Amino acid sequence: MIESGGDVCGVTIDTGSIEADVVVLAAGVWTRALAATAGVDLPIGGERLQVMATHPLPMQVQPLVYGPLATKQYSLFRDLPSWRREDFTVAYESEQGIEMLQLLAQRPTGEILLGCPMDYPSEIDDRPTLDGVAAITEMIGQDFPGLRSAPIDRVWAGVLPYTADLAPVIDEVVPGLVVAAGHVFGNAAGPVTGRIVSQLIRGAEPQIDISECRFDRALEQVGGGAPTRW
Ligand SMILES: Cc1cc2nc3c(=O)[nH]c(=O)nc-3n(C[C@H](O)[C@H](O)[C@H](O)COP(=O)(O)OP(=O)(O)OC[C@H]3O[C@@H](n4cnc5c(N)ncnc54)[C@H](O)[C@@H]3O)c2cc1C
Repeated sequence: MIESGGDVCGVTIDTGSIEADVVVLAAGVWTRALAATAGVDLPIGGERLQVMATHPLPMQVQPLVYGPLATKQYSLFRDLPSWRREDFTVAYESEQGIEMLQLLAQRPTGEILLGCPMDYPSEIDDRPTLDGVAAITEMIGQDFPGLRSAPIDRVWAGVLPYTADLAPVIDEVVPGLVVAAGHVFGNAAGPVTGRIVSQLIRGAEPQIDISECRFDRALEQVGGGAPTRW
């Protein structure tokens, strides 16, 4: 970030610098390190989800199947009186140091996406691991044996940003620097966030109340490998 008298007034890039009246910082889990260059501490953590994709196969998953192991991630299920963690936990999760957000989805191309082992690396790391691949393999073998011989095309990981209260930070955090980051459900929240950011840049009143997303709310630190829950 380029600063002048405490205000952010541009960014440095590989090929030089760009001056700006307002800088919008919306870099997912990478936001924290970039904000630190302007002296701002944003308590945003990273949750890694790994995914394996098969080669295209005849349509058989329509369109998405969640398995029982996914229930521990959602308060919707955990808060049910009859829900017991031990019924929705398997040995390979602790052996591989992950929790399984168990789901399959099939794209119109026929690719089936298999996932998602979740963990919390201490540093941002969007590389899949052998432990993650082993967990997916075990999960398919146990719960979806019809896919054991599926040809595999590729494996990757994404890192979801999140905050301690699961709401993003959408605010002008110092003069000239608007942050929009920490969206754990960013696919769903992206369009409305874009609208709010455009209103903040123009100095207009956001069309919805964003007090829960303000930077000055009491946000605890995140990380340390502790799972976040939705
Ligand atoms: C497997 C998986 C399943 C998911 N399922 C859902 C779902 O069902 N529903 C849902 O709502 N969300 C879902 N998400 C979460 C969703 O993907 C994220 O919440 C969303 O991507 C966050 O958006 P973002 O724009 O804040 O960050 P990102 O999508 O991470 O985008 C940040 C961008 O900043 C760029 N960047 C970083 N550093 C720099 C730099 N120095 N200069 C320039 N660019 C930089 C990065 O390359 C990246 O393109 C899922 C995520 C995963 C991994």
